[in-house]
Amino acid sequence: MPTSPNTQHIVVAGGGPAAFRLVDALTTRGLDGRTVTVIGEEPHEPYDRVNLARRWDPESDLRLGDAALWQRDDVALICGERVSSVDREDRRVRTDAGRVVDYDELVLATGSYAWAPPVPGADLDGVHVYRTIADVDRMRDHVASLVTKKTPTALIVGGGLLGLEAAGGLVNQGVDVRVVQLAPWLMPAQLDQGGGQALGRLIKDLGVEVQNDVGPQVIERAETGGFAVTLTDDSVVAADLVIFAVGVRPRDELGRDAGLAIGPRGGVVVDDTCRTSDPQIWAIGEVACLPERGCVGLVAPANAMAEVVADRLLGGRGTFPGVDDSTKLKLSGIDVAVFGDALSRAPDCLDVVYADPARGVYQKLVMSDDGRTLLGGILVGDATAYASLRPMVGRALSGEPAGYLAAAGTDLPGSGDLPDDAQVCSCNAVSAGTIRGAVRDGCSDVAGVKACTRAGTQCGSCVGLVQKLLNTELAAAGVEIPKAVCEHFALSRSELFEAVRIAGLTSFTAIVERFGVPRPDRTANRGCDICKPMVASILASLHEEYVLSDGRGTLQDTNDRALANLQKDGTYSVVPRIPGGEITPAKLKVIAEVAEEFGLYTKITGGQRIDLFGARLDQLPDIWQRLIDAGMESGHAYGKAVRTVKSCVGSTWCRYGVQDSVGMAIELELRYRGLRSPHKIKLGVSGCARECAEARSKDVGVIATDKGWNLYVGGNGGFTPRHAELLVGDLSDEVLIKVIDRFVMYYVRTADRLQRTAAWIADLDGGLDHLREVILDDSLGICAELEEAMDRHVSSYTDEWAATLADPERLRRFRGFVNAAEPDPTITRVPERGQWRPPHDHERDAAVPQIAVLACGPTIPVRGR
Ligand SMILES: Cc1cc2nc3c(=O)[nH]c(=O)nc-3n(C[C@H](O)[C@H](O)[C@H](O)COP(=O)(O)OP(=O)(O)OC[C@H]3O[C@@H](n4cnc5c(N)ncnc54)[C@H](O)[C@@H]3O)c2cc1C
Repeated sequence: MPTSPNTQHIVVAGGGPAAFRLVDALTTRGLDGRTVTVIGEEPHEPYDRVNLARRWDPESDLRLGDAALWQRDDVALICGERVSSVDREDRRVRTDAGRVVDYDELVLATGSYAWAPPVPGADLDGVHVYRTIADVDRMRDHVASLVTKKTPTALIVGGGLLGLEAAGGLVNQGVDVRVVQLAPWLMPAQLDQGGGQALGRLIKDLGVEVQNDVGPQVIERAETGGFAVTLTDDSVVAADLVIFAVGVRPRDELGRDAGLAIGPRGGVVVDDTCRTSDPQIWAIGEVACLPERGCVGLVAPANAMAEVVADRLLGGRGTFPGVDDSTKLKLSGIDVAVFGDALSRAPDCLDVVYADPARGVYQKLVMSDDGRTLLGGILVGDATAYASLRPMVGRALSGEPAGYLAAAGTDLPGSGDLPDDAQVCSCNAVSAGTIRGAVRDGCSDVAGVKACTRAGTQCGSCVGLVQKLLNTELAAAGVEIPKAVCEHFALSRSELFEAVRIAGLTSFTAIVERFGVPRPDRTANRGCDICKPMVASILASLHEEYVLSDGRGTLQDTNDRALANLQKDGTYSVVPRIPGGEITPAKLKVIAEVAEEFGLYTKITGGQRIDLFGARLDQLPDIWQRLIDAGMESGHAYGKAVRTVKSCVGSTWCRYGVQDSVGMAIELELRYRGLRSPHKIKLGVSGCARECAEARSKDVGVIATDKGWNLYVGGNGGFTPRHAELLVGDLSDEVLIKVIDRFVMYYVRTADRLQRTAAWIADLDGGLDHLREVILDDSLGICAELEEAMDRHVSSYTDEWAATLADPERLRRFRGFVNAAEPDPTITRVPERGQWRPPHDHERDAAVPQIAVLACGPTIPVRGR
């Protein structure tokens, strides 16, 4: 039945994401007289299955794209009917409602079904699977029906991505969840052992029990209601609900019955144009069995196949570009991402692994055998780097791979400068170049870029990177970048600070609920890697509490979470506070003993204190204890906080000194220690105009005069060094401290995230003069409040190291891993100038394990000068 192209009728069997994408791609390209009929058996328009977890809130909208798509004259959508047969000879399909629809081209987009193993009892009412809106609705109704139960219980069979998502959803419904699986660790298809075990701990922290190496043997109704599930180890578990999440199987029955070629493990066989063994029939999405790959259970390839078929149906020559297995788990509070060759399958590839049990983090980069090209990776516990690293797969990293992992939580090198062809959104195959083009064409915010390019509209993991590219492009065009923190808060940091302060809120959840940008689909706004640490910092500045309390640990930046500074080999450095640089010989002796005992490299810092490098995470509590016993405390070298107050020796010893700079430095350092701020704050006090403390390179510089103190503000070293400027001169001790209190608190409240004082002052309308008016003339009437806030901070200060040691629960973060006390064989050292340091690449063969260093004690081979 030859027909002219422009009267062609395309029929799509199946109404899931692949069908939606096909129709969207066809209509975007232009149907040009052709017509499309989509027949889906579910009673809904095609919806976003990837975000099915949102359906736990029955109000949420999972619709894909614009509803107008289905109102077009050339598109027909039939919901709630199953295509029951395909007549290839007459080119027509029949539905279970008896409808017959002719086609010129047929596209199978029938997806997969959730498979349940043939376990006795798996078919009982109350045993669920997790694939469709109806499945979630059934589970929610089931939980709601258990009104007499204080805490309903659920047994989830399967510890893969879907099982864990189901677990997260049920936990949020107040259900006690246990996950059992035959595999030895979670998400075995995507994660290696280290990643799976780290994920297991994070899942347990959510309150989910996990049992590996067991499966169900038989499911029976329990006499008391619910089920008794006998496991393969013969134990019996009681559960009100049982959910199977053990895998999917392709819905290839239409193709099978119609005699199309079927893959050895199911699925309708297609070539690289997605054409089946019948030239008039195509298959896309999870039902398609790809050459050499089989069926793929991810949405990005489904979208790519839909684009290829749309192109072909309209006369193009597109071919399937290949599968990107990258994925990110969407479980509340837990980051898991895998990309590229995550399981290190490439011959001779090298793994760079970083594990930090305190933060619950496991990260692995798989590198080519020369250690330069990124092949893939696994990020568990902190997937901040995912969006930036994934587009780099197959490309050389600029810098040490470990640096990318250690850099998590901060800007990754060059992520705003990705090459144009790097893929930013893998779900929708959007490149950096396409995003840049959209910005150049007038998109000025993330929402605009999303609407214009589709980037970030599916799993959302690339939105942070989209924002970064947008900002870079806007900045290059000289456009002012909006001050909104990120897409989750429309307020600037200072506005949010004030809002949180006035509302008296104390948790991220409460803040995001009250001040976050409501999501269009009314699902929970969960924040991102930009706003979460910033809110943690605001809470730490406002409420004088242990920084890791009340779940704030997961919000913090890398170093804050370990209360120590992460170094490039995965060990930590420890910096005790040495106020004003003054230290007794007894304390020096203890620092020396600790350094020898734990094999730590010792260096005097630029801030007049002593940095002890090379401690393992599990050694930190013992090191802190020793230092605390000797009267020392945390120096907050890890925090965006007040760091040090550098001083010269002052009038006590120096012939030129006119004031006691050491005494003042100590007073200031003890006053402001532990104060969390938008960025680090450094102070300096010089005892005379010779300025030996280099106070004018500090955020707050104090220089003695014969009448008192001159106060300078807004200096810094670093990338763009700035000299501090004189704010006010000849102050008494008492007034000096009052003015610094006001200055620091005003900065903490009103600066932007990661803005040093110099940039903050430059941004103030009126600059330094405005500052003088506010904190000297009290033009805003807030000085008393600023002083009170500082007094509250001073009186409630506690040492974070001591607070950690005093609480077994907090200590667990440092001893969390069962094998934490085992020396890590990958940490190695070489001797240099009487100390031990990490080896450079060319020294690795000669390096000794850290354990041998410890056995060596103070006897260290001397090499070098
Ligand atoms: C909870 C969950 C979370 C997921 N998370 C992710 C993720 O984070 N990242 C990711 O990449 N992927 C994820 N996926 C997988 C992703 O949803 C699928 O890859 C995607 O839905 C495949 O689309 P599809 O259209 O091929 O198949 P499906 O989504 O299965 O849609 C097929 C549709 O066709 C219908 N149908 C079947 N047979 C017939 C017939 N004979 N007649 C009419 N209609 C029929 C089905 O009922 C269904 O509505 C997730 C899946 C689930 C269930």
